[in-house]
Amino acid sequence: MKLTKRALLTMAVAATLLSTPFLGTPVVAQDKGTIGISMPTKSSARWISDGESMVKQFTEAGYATDLQYAEDDIPNQLAQIENMITKGVNVLVIAAIDGTTLSNALENAAASGIKVIAYDRLIRDSGNVDYYATFDNFKVGVQQAESLVKGMKERFPDVKPLNVELFGGSPDDNNAFFFYNGAMSVLQPLIDAGEITIPSGQMGMDVVGTLRWDGAVAQARMDNLLSANYGDKVLHGALSPYDGLSIGILSSLKGVGYGSGDLAMPIVTGQDAEIPSVKSMIAGEQYSTVFKDTRELARVTVGMVEALLTGSEPEINDTTTYDNGVKVVPSYLLEPVSVDVTNYEEILVGSGYYTADQLK
Ligand code: BGC
Repeated sequence: MKLTKRALLTMAVAATLLSTPFLGTPVVAQDKGTIGISMPTKSSARWISDGESMVKQFTEAGYATDLQYAEDDIPNQLAQIENMITKGVNVLVIAAIDGTTLSNALENAAASGIKVIAYDRLIRDSGNVDYYATFDNFKVGVQQAESLVKGMKERFPDVKPLNVELFGGSPDDNNAFFFYNGAMSVLQPLIDAGEITIPSGQMGMDVVGTLRWDGAVAQARMDNLLSANYGDKVLHGALSPYDGLSIGILSSLKGVGYGSGDLAMPIVTGQDAEIPSVKSMIAGEQYSTVFKDTRELARVTVGMVEALLTGSEPEINDTTTYDNGVKVVPSYLLEPVSVDVTNYEEILVGSGYYTADQLK
């Protein structure tokens, strides 16, 4: 058997550690490879948690990691990925900013024998995506809409029709369409039945999408919707697909007096259980969010990488839903959990995702 220099070095280090009497439990240095992790932005806490969970779990499993954030800049993310390919990572784990811009980079990855896992967001228009680890994104939208309807029925029991405005996620993120379609599967029948109305008439992802999930954009749009359509009307609910948008929407609503005096706060949904939004829920402003346990997504991803690198089959539970335009990407979908003020302690604190102090 021919051993590489690197393997010999690893064995030498391991032998030294094993034979050193003062180090307690022997630590065997592992060298299972390097995983390139490309995340979209640090401007949202969830991606920071994703990165931290993956580095922790990959390290525990014996891998080195190269974690990069691209600050929502597409050329930046491309450069970071190209750099990882040049450095010869063993697997790429990518949460794309724009799911359609990576085809060339992934061709280079494939040419170098590097496997690719789409993390949370589907990478589109490329045959070089091996697996997809995510949540049931359609269900996220269903949960958002169900919670919106439940909240409006509680807070405005006698009102018909209920006035609602719709917000969508970033149109370059495949997930945004799943969230919107999931939500509309609940809302459209109620619109058709005359129980809900959309006073602005703005519907469809082409009109309600929010580029780069930008809270300031959502806030400005809510300002415009209110001034153009709510002179003599009251808003009862806003479908928001992400906590960062919800915070912007709530600022706009508070700015015109909602949540004080006789003007009840409309029901505003969200996603990711980010700390400012959980605090907002506790303060009676944001109504709900959807919790997606990023520790679990990291666990699934690490499992996929282990399988890929050891020649076994990664665990998947969906082979039909995520067609990226070139192929249906084999996926593992985790379950999202709807969270509001009644269950946040059990779900978020009880699971150890946050401490009670972090939510004060
Ligand atoms: C993720 C959501 C997140 C959104 C904005 C989506 O792709 O699935 O969890 O709220 O991006 O970062």
